[in-house]
Amino acid sequence: MEVIVHTGTSKIGGAVTEIKSKKGTRIILDYGENLDGTEQMKIPGLTSNTQHNVDAVFISHSHGDHIGSVYQILNDIPIYLEQKGMEIYNILCDMQINYEKKVYPKNKNIHYFEFQKPIVVKDIIVIPYIVDHSAYNSAMFLIYVDYQKVLYTGDYRYHGKKWRLFRPMLKRIGQVDLLITEGTNLTRNKDNLDNVTKVLKEKDLISEFKKYTSYDQIFFMTSSSNIDRIVSLYKAFVPTHEFIEDLSMNSVASILENIPNSNTFKTVKTFVTDKQKNRYEPYGRYINHTKNVIDELPFTSKFAVSVKPSMQNYIKQNQDKIHNACLIYSMYDGYIDDDWDSPSTRNFVNYLQNDLHIPFFEIHTSGHGDITAIKLINKYVNPKNVILIHTENREEGLKIASEIFKNKLLKVNDGEAIKFEEK
Ligand SMILES: [Zn+2]
Ligand SMILES: [Zn+2]
Repeated sequence: MEVIVHTGTSKIGGAVTEIKSKKGTRIILDYGENLDGTEQMKIPGLTSNTQHNVDAVFISHSHGDHIGSVYQILNDIPIYLEQKGMEIYNILCDMQINYEKKVYPKNKNIHYFEFQKPIVVKDIIVIPYIVDHSAYNSAMFLIYVDYQKVLYTGDYRYHGKKWRLFRPMLKRIGQVDLLITEGTNLTRNKDNLDNVTKVLKEKDLISEFKKYTSYDQIFFMTSSSNIDRIVSLYKAFVPTHEFIEDLSMNSVASILENIPNSNTFKTVKTFVTDKQKNRYEPYGRYINHTKNVIDELPFTSKFAVSVKPSMQNYIKQNQDKIHNACLIYSMYDGYIDDDWDSPSTRNFVNYLQNDLHIPFFEIHTSGHGDITAIKLINKYVNPKNVILIHTENREEGLKIASEIFKNKLLKVNDGEAIKFEEK
């Protein structure tokens, strides 16, 4: 077999990996968008016809850096993905008025995979395994090709709510010839490498959030697609506060079973802004399917509300009603860094914190594995070769990864074809 990491050996965003069998069967793992807004690389046979087009594409999860360029794929190429994850991604595209980036199942050759159910693509077999990450129903892929086993991790962690599934899954997978693993936190979160106990577990966030229930008005920020986090926020605040979601969060939660949303939970309301109310496309469509919609916050009682930069006007108009309020920031802190490309989150947080003097608390745990997770993978699947992708700093990532994987770690460049001979 041959493996090409088209992009992804030196950055997070735009992950694209290809595996090609000896007979020439080509599969692509993830086709994400670049996080810096630059255009995704065009791959012959995937976005334009060649003599031998790609035979199938597999999408590990619904974050933009893995699914975000699927709309560019030729219409007849089979794309395998997880249905709910795709639906969540499409709702978020609508909310951001990014219709062209949606995955339209009617126009594409879409197939929904089921976990642990093998998919045969000519002489390649792919088995999706569920894994814990900050995107709903994320998958790892175990691939059988030319009598070799490859494990492609997608994004994963060991400190989430599904942590119990991790070891049994890895045991079941057993030894692999090649591991293609993400390494986000190898360089992003170096403190965690020295002191793994510092990593907050997803389940412990509820008690962290509860420490702030003495505030009457709790503004919280988290990703609308981080389902486990929405549940934790709900459990922490609903006993003492009215729980209010924004339209995007509620629309995502409504398509899943048993996730707090204002259609099926009496204790949840959905706040919509004037702009959303007055603009039919796309918001009106979603508002029409939403129960318990409010357009004013209950400033005289205790409430916890999901806030987004789009609410800044509303908050400004009502700033004299804000008292005993706090802001709980529960997402990646890179979004509020000075050097993050899009300033909207940073500006909004600055407004709340500096103009309105609302105290800011960051309570978050990463969707990516700490060193324990990466070591566990190494222990259980005992790979013969390892390729590291999805790191912010390639050289540093390779240096730290080589301490774990030793001489099994291959130094691979974007676009380089690596051949693995049959045993
Ligand atoms: Zn992800
Ligand atoms: Zn990712």
